[in-house]
Amino acid sequence: MAERVLRVAVVGSGPSGIYAADALTGQSAVPATVDVFDRLPAPYGLVRYGVAPDHFSIRSVRGTLEKVLERPTVRFLGNVEIGRDLSLGDLQRRYDAVILTYGAARDRRLGIPGEDLPGSVAATDLVAWYCGHPEAPRAEMEDAVSSATAAVVVGVGNVAVDVVRVLAKAPEELADTDMPQHVLDLLASDSITDIHLLGRRGPAQGAFTTKELRELGELADADVLLDPADLDLDELSQAAVDGSKVLARNVEVLRDWGSRQPEGKRRRIHVRFFTRPVELKGTDRVAEVVVERTELDAEGRAQGTGELSSIPAQLVVRSVGYRGMPLEGVPFDAARNVIPSSDGRVLDGDAVVPGLYVAGWIKRGPTGIIGTNKKDAAQTVTSLLEDAEAGRLPEPTEAGDVVPLLEDRGIDVVTFDRWKAIDAAEVALGGTNGRARTTLHDRAEMLACVPD
Ligand code: NAP
Repeated sequence: MAERVLRVAVVGSGPSGIYAADALTGQSAVPATVDVFDRLPAPYGLVRYGVAPDHFSIRSVRGTLEKVLERPTVRFLGNVEIGRDLSLGDLQRRYDAVILTYGAARDRRLGIPGEDLPGSVAATDLVAWYCGHPEAPRAEMEDAVSSATAAVVVGVGNVAVDVVRVLAKAPEELADTDMPQHVLDLLASDSITDIHLLGRRGPAQGAFTTKELRELGELADADVLLDPADLDLDELSQAAVDGSKVLARNVEVLRDWGSRQPEGKRRRIHVRFFTRPVELKGTDRVAEVVVERTELDAEGRAQGTGELSSIPAQLVVRSVGYRGMPLEGVPFDAARNVIPSSDGRVLDGDAVVPGLYVAGWIKRGPTGIIGTNKKDAAQTVTSLLEDAEAGRLPEPTEAGDVVPLLEDRGIDVVTFDRWKAIDAAEVALGGTNGRARTTLHDRAEMLACVPD
């Protein structure tokens, strides 16, 4: 008798979802087929909608992910939202196992007065806008960017560095990207001259990586300015730098900036450590950011000194981390914003939920580089395969394929072949203005490219 093929649903087609599909269909001990769902018509998640458009080499991982979706044992089912078009129960009844890899799409907040004034935006939204995400709040982002002469970016992680770089780059430095044309046009015409990057702790506590940091000092149109006094390291910070090559290299880059004379470029990037925002002020929109000088306590945490000053700014971007959201019917750890799990098996209290798994940012929080998700997804798949071999997976109760069910519900499912039509339209659109690709940002426009 032929061996039964395991059927697995993966929710989310970002790197962790596709790496999970890769691990499942790249082994032969337990034959498996995988359906990878995404609520957007396009696959690749943060590779398409989060990795900075000018980071070509990181974005090129898309080629590797694409090869997985092309496998005959893998099916991409885009434009299908789990929790709306299909319930988790719909999946659990039809698949041997479900792996949740839907990431951490929401922003974390600062929790300070004035945070909701127009002009104060989340980096998650700004990044979504410049990457052409169909659900980005375009009008809000364009209003905020076009109204500003000075911007404050809060947080010193790689996302903050991405945002500063994209805002500070000259048009010709972005011309080769796949950003939507309206984004490039607005960035080319904006009036921002000063961008302040605020770290609430010191240079030895920056969350950025050296390569990303260094790029800020190499821009055609922007001088980078830094007060050398911010680079004096206390004992704790010196010990951290002595113990970490990355931190030592970061501080070296920053010291180089501290010794530079501005060249009179069109824009200035002001890097400020030991500075945290305490209030955003303005009447009908942000006009200034009140900041407080901080110092490190014995545990290396930022403590306010009470010394206040003000930075005039009309655009404030909070880039203080991403946040995972719960999915109906799935346990959630609201303190950590992740789905609780053990080796990728979803936990309800101390009990494993049979047949339900998790991988990527919604499993471990928004940390690490894309490659981190490969190992993470492989760990989850190992657990799933162990459970399959041990007979611990619940039997599906419905045999039918999910696609007719979706069609009955009026959902315009975008399979991989249909996605390739959108892909081809983006390449063709790029060709009309001398670019390799231009991202289609509008869901209706994307779906209009898809053959019936
Ligand atoms: P992140 O690395 O966690 O950085 C968050 C930053 O926000 C930290 O500097 C943190 O400072 C600061 N912060 C948090 N709460 C704050 C508050 N209330 N007030 C002021 N500052 C606050 O997050 P991320 O930049 O969103 O990046 C997410 C992940 O994606 C990271 O692993 C990152 O490396 C990765 N990523 C990688 C790349 C790349 O490889 N090129 C690009 C983008 C993102 P404290 O340390 O003081 O908390």
